[in-house]
Amino acid sequence: MSSLKQIVSCMDDYDPEALPVETARRVIRSLVTPVTASERVAVRASLGRVLGADVVSTLNVPAHDNSAMDGFAVRGADLKKDGDTVLHEIGTAFAGRVFGAAVGPGKCVRVMTGAVMPAGTDTVVIQEVVRVEGDRIVVPPGQKTGQNRRLAGEDLAVGRIALPAGRLVRPAELGLLASLGLAEVTVRRRLRVAFFSTGDELVSIGTQPQEGQIFDSNRYTIHGMLTRLGCEVIDMGVVRDDPKLLEKAFHDAAAAADVVITSGGVSVGEADFVKDLLNKLGEVVFWKIAMKPGRPLAYGKIGHAHFFGLPGNPVSVMVTFYQFVRDALLALSGRDPVPQLPTFKVPCTSSLKKAPGRTEFQRGILSQDASGNWSVRVTGEQGSGILRSMSEANCFIILPTEQGNVVPGALVDVQVLEGVV
Ligand code: AMP
Ligand code: MG
Repeated sequence: MSSLKQIVSCMDDYDPEALPVETARRVIRSLVTPVTASERVAVRASLGRVLGADVVSTLNVPAHDNSAMDGFAVRGADLKKDGDTVLHEIGTAFAGRVFGAAVGPGKCVRVMTGAVMPAGTDTVVIQEVVRVEGDRIVVPPGQKTGQNRRLAGEDLAVGRIALPAGRLVRPAELGLLASLGLAEVTVRRRLRVAFFSTGDELVSIGTQPQEGQIFDSNRYTIHGMLTRLGCEVIDMGVVRDDPKLLEKAFHDAAAAADVVITSGGVSVGEADFVKDLLNKLGEVVFWKIAMKPGRPLAYGKIGHAHFFGLPGNPVSVMVTFYQFVRDALLALSGRDPVPQLPTFKVPCTSSLKKAPGRTEFQRGILSQDASGNWSVRVTGEQGSGILRSMSEANCFIILPTEQGNVVPGALVDVQVLEGVV
């Protein structure tokens, strides 16, 4: 595997002092490879996990051709194109039971939805269109051979990959696994992520803050985002800005986890001793990303662990997590393909201040008007310390590098956070 330094030395748009968002993503993506270990879990317990191997269907689902409607199973070849067809009903086929007799020319069978198609029949005529005269069934013209019939294996065919490795198990996948009769499934092991906050000003919940001290909130947002992504979290608390304590924390975290995430301590003025420390422990680059919020970001490896040094400001933590860490964690957990956050264009009803030269991630509220049209407005204050803006938002408004101010009514890119955060 190439080292971080080799990768960045080959990039022509690599400028650690003003790194485009996309370049930072590319560097990170080129270094993450999925964890390989898997485990077997009961089907229900696989919800939210990533499949560790292809699930190959051992049976056809459905197992037999069967009726999609209540009606009459007929032989398509019997049906007249230009007039009524009179058939003789010989019995009823119920779901879950096999209709014993074969159906010869001129005959038909009453069928229930899900009933196995009786031998000889290939078409179902819904009961609403036929005329029943005792056991004489009158079928009008206009039926198509094969209609209202579900084919064996049309959902899952024997020998075919029913679910590929790398797929997230959602409710639909649970149902498919169950329809194959599987009690257990192979999933990738959960990603282990250790994290801590740095800063002399931080106190944890339960401690009375002294003057100038603040509660550590980043560990809670990070805990939440990691948990939503299905990671196993190792919360290592608050670590003071003390080289000895930090060295031990980095070392312990890297030994315990696949990924280490910290917040704070990477901005100018703070970075210097952290930089020396991390260069001693691993291979880490310190970037100034051309973005707002979230300019300082450190990335690299400490031993085998990937390391993300996020900024300290609470909004910057969330923005950098969604723009860089989320992708990397999904790739490391074995998701294939790595799903991108849904992004689309809508009119913006607010006027936005924006300086060209950096990508901005403003916090927005997407809403629908009475006629069903969507638009976005910005949440109030956009400061990187105002976590309320993330709480009020349901999307990021992404303003690309070249973009200047936005006038009301202009189209902007939004990245939806609902169901993701
Ligand atoms: P830093 O990057 O360490 O200089 O931190 C930037 C700003 O974010 C400072 O105002 C810090 O007090 C604040 N901050 C850093 N870490 C946290 C945290 N864990 N929770 C809340 N605020 C924080
Ligand atoms: Mg700090």
